[in-house]
Amino acid sequence: KSYLQQIKSNARLNVFNEVFEQEALAAAKNIDERIASGASLGKLAGMVIAIKDNICYKGHKVSASSKILADFTSIYSATIVERLLAEDAIIIGRCNCDEFAMGAANENSFFGPVKNFADETRVSGGSSGGSAVAVQAGMCHAAIGTDTGGSVRQPAAFCGVIGLKPTYGRISRHGIISYASSFDQVGPLTQSIEDALLLLEIMAGPDEFDGTLSTKPVPESKKHSRDTGKKNIAYLQEALSSPGVDDEIKNKLISYIEKLRADGHIVKPVSFELLDYLVPAYYILAMAEASSNLARYDGVHFGYRSPEATDLVSTYKRSRSEGFGKEVKRRIMLGTFVLSAGYYDAYYAKAQKVRRLIKEKTEQLLQEYDFILTPTAPEPAFEMGIKEKDPVVNYLHDIFTVQASLAGLPAISLPAGNNSKGLPLGLQLIAKNFAEQELLSFSDYFL
Ligand code: GLN
Repeated sequence: KSYLQQIKSNARLNVFNEVFEQEALAAAKNIDERIASGASLGKLAGMVIAIKDNICYKGHKVSASSKILADFTSIYSATIVERLLAEDAIIIGRCNCDEFAMGAANENSFFGPVKNFADETRVSGGSSGGSAVAVQAGMCHAAIGTDTGGSVRQPAAFCGVIGLKPTYGRISRHGIISYASSFDQVGPLTQSIEDALLLLEIMAGPDEFDGTLSTKPVPESKKHSRDTGKKNIAYLQEALSSPGVDDEIKNKLISYIEKLRADGHIVKPVSFELLDYLVPAYYILAMAEASSNLARYDGVHFGYRSPEATDLVSTYKRSRSEGFGKEVKRRIMLGTFVLSAGYYDAYYAKAQKVRRLIKEKTEQLLQEYDFILTPTAPEPAFEMGIKEKDPVVNYLHDIFTVQASLAGLPAISLPAGNNSKGLPLGLQLIAKNFAEQELLSFSDYFL
C-alpha cells in the first residue's frame, strides 16, 4: 500500500504505463494469508517489483512504449516473469521506457518522458527510465529493466541506484520484446547489492525457449560476502582526458582511484585503442538487428492497424508510418540501409569484424585486470528537451556502456554520490564473462 501511495502522489513523474493495483494488493493479501497458515514461501515473498514495459506478462498489456503496441495484450509470460512469480514476487506494474528500448533519456516514449526524482526538469536516463525512477522514488522494492547498450546501467546512474547488466547468455530473453537480439539482456535495478544478486540468481540459467543461454552455474546469494581481497583494476584513461566528460564526474573517478590505491588495490590507467569505434560499431549492429526484429509489426499479425489502410501494401505502409515514432523509424531506415546489397559488406559485415576485435581486446585486458572502471555516463542527468534534436549527440553519450554490450560482458553501475547540484553520479565496473558473483562481491566496496 505504501508503494501504491508513493506511485499515486508522484504520478507527475510519468513512471508507470500501468499500475496493477488490485492484482498487487490481492497478491500481497495472499502472501499474508500463507504466512498466517504457516505455508512455505518463495525467496521473493513480499518483494514488490516493477517491470519495464517491454517484458511480457500473460494477460497484461505490453506496449514497448509504442503506439504500435499500445493495445496489445501478452498471451504468455516471459520466462523471467514466471521465475519471479514462482518465488512469490508481487508485480506492481509496467514501467515507461523509450520506444522499443531505443534511447538513453526516456524521451522517445509514446507515453511521454519520465522525470528524474532528484530534479524534475531533468531526464531519468533510458531506456529503462521508468524502472530506474520507480526504485529511486520508492515506488517498488526493485525493478527489472533491459540493457542492450546501457539501458539498465545509464538510468541507474542518473537516478542513484544500482543497475546490473549480466553476461550475455545469463538470463533468458524469451518474452522480452526484441530490440537487438545479440545484445539484449535483462537486468535488475535495486537499492542493494544483495537484492541485485538475489534477482539475478532467480532469473538466470538455462531456458528451453532461449538457445543462447549458458549452462554455467548461476551466481548464488548464499555465497555472497564482501570481497576484501586486493584487486587489479584498469581505468579508462580517456575518461579523464576527454573534454566530453563532465568535470565533476572526472573528479569522482579520481577520488575513487585514490581511495582504491590507498586501500592497497592496484589501479592503472589503460588506453583502449578501439574507443572511437565503440559507438559506431554498436549503432550499426543494433540498428541492423532492430530493422529485422521490427519487421514483424506489419499491421496484420498484431498491434496497431491503420484505419486508412485499403489494401495489403497500404496496411503495411500506413500502420508502420503511423504506429512507430520518429527515432524508431530512423533506426529501421538506417538498419535496412546497412543491410542492403551493396552496403552490407561496407557497414554491417565490417561492424561485425570490429565487434570481434573489441571483444577480443576487452577480454585480453580482463586477463590482466580483474575489473575495468569507467564512469557509467559522461555526464549526469541532463535537462529535458535539449538533446532530442541531435541523434548523434545522443548516441555518443553511450560511449562507456556499449563496450560491455559489444563484448557481452557483465557490468554494473554503482551510485557514487551526488554532484554539486544534487544530481546522482554513477561509476561502472566491467568484469570477466560470467563473473557476476565476483563483480557483486567487490561492488560492495563502493557502497
Ligand atoms: N542508448 C542505447 C540505444 O539507444 C542503448 C539502449 C538500450 O540499452 N536499450 O540503443
